[in-house]
Amino acid sequence: MITRTPIAVHDADVHDVDAAPVAASWQRQLSAAITDPLELCRRLDLDPGWLPGAEAGHALFATRVPEAYLARIRPRDPGDPLLRQVLPVASETETATGFVDDPLAERDHTPKPGLIHKYAGRVLLIASPACAINCRYCFRRHFPYDDNAPSMREWETTLDYLRGDDSIREVILSGGDPLASSDRRLAALVERLSEIPHLKRLRIHTRLPVVIPARVDDALLGWLGETRLQRVMVLHINHAQEIDDAVIGACQRLRDAGVTLLNQSVLLRGVNDDVATLEALSEQLFDAGVLPYYLHVLDPVRGASHFDVGDDEARDLVAALRARAPGFLVPRLVREIPGEPNKTPL
Ligand SMILES: *Cc1c(COP(=O)(O)O)cnc(C)c1O
Ligand code: SF4
Repeated sequence: MITRTPIAVHDADVHDVDAAPVAASWQRQLSAAITDPLELCRRLDLDPGWLPGAEAGHALFATRVPEAYLARIRPRDPGDPLLRQVLPVASETETATGFVDDPLAERDHTPKPGLIHKYAGRVLLIASPACAINCRYCFRRHFPYDDNAPSMREWETTLDYLRGDDSIREVILSGGDPLASSDRRLAALVERLSEIPHLKRLRIHTRLPVVIPARVDDALLGWLGETRLQRVMVLHINHAQEIDDAVIGACQRLRDAGVTLLNQSVLLRGVNDDVATLEALSEQLFDAGVLPYYLHVLDPVRGASHFDVGDDEARDLVAALRARAPGFLVPRLVREIPGEPNKTPL
């Protein structure tokens, strides 16, 4: 199995020719992520013509690309589907009708710090304001995370809310990326959740096992493997090229720990807006033991309109996929409409 980021941690490893490459800890990889658009362009040998746009986009929403993800991007190819997800561009400064700061109106649904209760039976907790990667199309690019990143003490009022509503069966850890938080914090939170008798399921919405596969380490598998709650992890992968051997290994470890793996994607212009790409993604996901769950149409967030694929085209794409792939490899095409009791099928 190939480790894509063979960063030797100790000098001893460098000189020991027989030693397998040692991946740096996920925390190190997280803090060493590329956050300068100039460096991103330089590392990928991109034409300097991209720079002014990259800097303009970066000023609105910071660049963030970990090395392990960078390694999957083809150099000198501005059309690379992974690059498009992370390279800031001039189009982000454009305003487009209907593209707003809080497209999901989530600020209206936060009864307690860090808690969003919009759908029956399940709540979403913002377990970490940080992300390992900044995806340019992200609907949270303007979310006021500073107001929504509770400490363990502040979680108490949220836990009270959960204890007091026995219609809630499932808690979804989201973010940001919940796995950007430390295992100590996550284990403590999950321990408290598991003490609430009516809770059955723990769901984790995360991109970290894809972006930095080393995140799926023994500490994570420890608390995740031990909790009495049933575990579901919804990964976020938009293109088959994101799934390398390290990601496949991370998925395998999660499944061995009893975690059900699903994937959600966003339909993105220039990334995955053709049927062959969607089919390859579904096939590659299944090979990694992951079932496609949702294909989201883009949330109309300001600065992301260049990723938009129209509804009719989206429907045609999924119909074409249905004609080529088994039903279980066809994700549900959905849109999130504020005020609706669920994600709305298109
Ligand atoms: C998407 C979402 C959920 C989960 O919806 P499912 O259809 O169960 O996947 C729950 N709460 C919020 C606020 C959401 O945005
Ligand atoms: S919340 Fe998800 S989509 Fe948004 S920037 Fe973070 S990882 Fe990317």
